Amino acid sequence: MARKRVIIDCYTDEPAGLGVPPFLGTHPRIVFGELKGKAEYLTIDDLRIFSAQIKLTSSKLDPPTAKTRIDLLNRTRSPEKAKQLLSSADQIIVVAGLQTPGKYLSAQPAGLKEISKLLKPLKATKILTGPAASIGTQQMGGFAAELPDRGIFDHIREYKFADYREMQPAFTKGADVLKQITAERIIEIETGRGCSRQSGCSFCTEPLKQQLCWREPDLIIEEVKKLTQNGAARFRLGKQSCIYSYMKSSPEKLEQLLSGIKALEPSVFHIDNANPAFVTKELTELFVKYLTPGSTAAMGAETFDPEVYRLNNLNSSPENTLQAIEIINECGRSYGDNGMPALLPGINILLGLEGESERTLELNFQALKDMLKKDLFVRRINIRQVVPFPGTRLYEVAGDRYLRKNKHLYSAWSRKIREEIDLPMLEKIFPEGHRLYGLLAETHEGNVTFLRHPGSYPIIVGVRQRLELGRFYDVKVTGHMLRSLTGELI
Ligand code: SF4
Repeated sequence: MARKRVIIDCYTDEPAGLGVPPFLGTHPRIVFGELKGKAEYLTIDDLRIFSAQIKLTSSKLDPPTAKTRIDLLNRTRSPEKAKQLLSSADQIIVVAGLQTPGKYLSAQPAGLKEISKLLKPLKATKILTGPAASIGTQQMGGFAAELPDRGIFDHIREYKFADYREMQPAFTKGADVLKQITAERIIEIETGRGCSRQSGCSFCTEPLKQQLCWREPDLIIEEVKKLTQNGAARFRLGKQSCIYSYMKSSPEKLEQLLSGIKALEPSVFHIDNANPAFVTKELTELFVKYLTPGSTAAMGAETFDPEVYRLNNLNSSPENTLQAIEIINECGRSYGDNGMPALLPGINILLGLEGESERTLELNFQALKDMLKKDLFVRRINIRQVVPFPGTRLYEVAGDRYLRKNKHLYSAWSRKIREEIDLPMLEKIFPEGHRLYGLLAETHEGNVTFLRHPGSYPIIVGVRQRLELGRFYDVKVTGHMLRSLTGELI
């Protein structure tokens, strides 16, 4: 008799690759493809409802005076169907792992503690895969990694492979999983694995997972075509450590890839992950030519302290990062038909690296302040506290020493960045009266609806009106919060 297999997507977030709704990551698709489509796809939200025996009513899921239940929002089946699948499954494959945890507007990924608790009563054989299976997971920056509990999982399976051509049938078959997902997701596309640097940054888990290899344009385009046939129209080239170094930064290969996907007429076509050291004008112009407006090239600047840069063997010096930001501004600032600039840089700052001091925080602040003075646009500044994952150089050399030493400084410093950099930056990019078109209503909080464009690091707009979720609206900017906008419908 055929095995009854269930994949439970608990969502993933890695330095290279996002699989938290509204994104659909590569891991569950590859697992589904490797099983030749003979599996049922569920989410952690389905499992939560099954375990809690929650009676679903719309007022419980989206209470009129409180927040939308984002932990239950991304269900794929009726509770009855999910119950039937989970109770009768003889194999459950869990996809999980947060290695760059963030805050999510409309989903709540699960940590291993929660997953283990919910899975315990189920009789099926349990397999853990995804980033958590390699070096663990952590939902909050600044804390130690959670490692898989072998008592719960019968097998822990890392996904490593040597050859993209050999894996292609799994990638293309994986596209069929979309038949089981009703909500339209942004599909994270894999263009490569590993890191192009011989010896990686002290904190990063990517070089531990796999040697560098790139996926040829024809393979990626074939997968995107299959995904398109299954109804997908929103794509992001996000599963790689740096899109600017794609196939040794070859403009020909990059253009072949971008033009091939563009020919499939996606409604959203964005990128993620750019190493500032590889940003050039020629490649940026290609992105601007082919991507849809509102994309962000998120860059791991990590620090603007030259000493921290040196000690942690980081990918880009402060000068390099500034130069990359200037290039992307030069090419990508013009506004597109959805009201968003074509392509802007994003900056990631990492706290808790080796050598960090009070001066580091001051240098970071000054560098960001200078960008503001120079009239450079930065779409968003992401501040994270590092998770020292076992196997990384940071873990061996410093662990959480600098986090513990400097933690008392972080909150006031972050607030200063939000008030003195983010706020005036938002006022510059989205002045009062600016119009944004085609925003998707995603969640409520009482009488306020939160909307954003589907895509890479979209700006969140709060509208003081309870709008129907899942629909698109046009808004006019009426005000600025520290990291979001307020608006009214037009
Ligand atoms: S450049 Fe650094 S942060 Fe980027 S993938 Fe390589 S090791 Fe990781």
